Amino acid sequence: MLKLEKSAAAFAEAKNLMPGGVNSPVRSYASVDCNPPFIARAEGDKIYDIDGNEYIDYVGSWGPMVVGHAHPQVVKALQEAATRGTSYGAPTCIESELAKLVMQVYPSIEVIRMVNSGTEATMSALRLARGYTGREKIVKFIGCYHGHSDSLLVNAGSGMATFGVPSSPGVTKGTDTISVPYNDAEAITKVMEEMGDEVAAVIVEPVAGNMGCVPPKQGYLRTLRNLTEKHGALLIFDEVMCGFRASLGGAQAAYGITPDLTCLGKIIGGGLPVAAYGGRRDIMQKVSPAGPVYQAGTLSGNPLAMTAGLETLKIITAEPEEGKADYSRELTLKTKKLLLGWQEKAKEADVTIQAHQAGSMFGIFFNDHDVFDYEDSCASDQEAFKVWFKAMLEQGIYLAPSQFETLFMSGAHSDEDIDRTIAAAAVAFQAVADSRK
Ligand code: PLP
Repeated sequence: MLKLEKSAAAFAEAKNLMPGGVNSPVRSYASVDCNPPFIARAEGDKIYDIDGNEYIDYVGSWGPMVVGHAHPQVVKALQEAATRGTSYGAPTCIESELAKLVMQVYPSIEVIRMVNSGTEATMSALRLARGYTGREKIVKFIGCYHGHSDSLLVNAGSGMATFGVPSSPGVTKGTDTISVPYNDAEAITKVMEEMGDEVAAVIVEPVAGNMGCVPPKQGYLRTLRNLTEKHGALLIFDEVMCGFRASLGGAQAAYGITPDLTCLGKIIGGGLPVAAYGGRRDIMQKVSPAGPVYQAGTLSGNPLAMTAGLETLKIITAEPEEGKADYSRELTLKTKKLLLGWQEKAKEADVTIQAHQAGSMFGIFFNDHDVFDYEDSCASDQEAFKVWFKAMLEQGIYLAPSQFETLFMSGAHSDEDIDRTIAAAAVAFQAVADSRK
């Protein structure tokens, strides 16, 4: 039995200090009925709690830690950067360096603005889309999560789905946000035919990661591109999660669709608070001070944050050694191996799962049918998920504590650790089978 006594005491104290004891809801483990481990440190693919337990980590800080925790190259660069001062609130060359590297990988981004969180990136991209088009309506997809700005907290995924409050109190009941089922070409076509000429932007997670991992159906993103073009609305790809993961160049490279604007986050900051939005030059030139759409930030482009992002991107974009696959291909192959192992173990335990992968993003659903949208995701067996999650945690495998989240592979996950994770899954799937008897 996993010992979590110190974590339990720390959580009890934290509950008096912060809402639900946490600074971001899903961390509370409320939906899996257990206390969260409090983390002391992390290195490579391992994370360690204050009771001394070691876990193989597939959360990776919810995506950013693509090269593993405390990567020596990132740490060294950060240490050196810190000695030069931690914030200036003035332009630096490293901002341009990171911008250029991002644009190399994302050619659709001609001009970029760095911000501090994915929430800021999507919120600012929407403001820009409204400012650019002079229209007010936004279309989003049910179960997609784009951070916690008001117009996007409608029928959202992630923690909103986990806690069963898809639309938050405190958000005004405006009619400017229209939500449509994901992966349903007919539904979005109908909405755009009815009111497309009033729509400023369609914003989508091109690979959904906040209703569990749900890739787009074949041709779906093309449909979104065609409809937005036809009606003069902007297409915004929120690649905060799937950027650098669905493929190195994100979903837009993987599926060959060019959006007007892209939001990035997580990996672009290498574990420090960075996100960005960018895209077509004519649109981005509307952002202040080049144009009238206002957006600013005291710590935007912070030198430490830029350093962590730059070093992380240097690692994942490096030319591979002779005969080796590139970084993101390696991650895809490792993820495939893990999921094949899980599928085999699930079958042996006579538990039906749906396993989804997009590059180094992955997840499973306890569902007899495949999952294409939020409704399908909700129809999965969430009691089975709880049993599976706890059985994995007991064996030192650290997964996201909600079915409405995605798991992430990193370059630090060794073959041996993946084999250990597959062996643990055999036990966990058996626990699910036993719980159903
Ligand atoms: N967009 C997507 C697709 C996300 O997954 C998230 C967070 O998980 C966000 C936006 C919000 O990012 P942040 O939590 O950095 O505000």
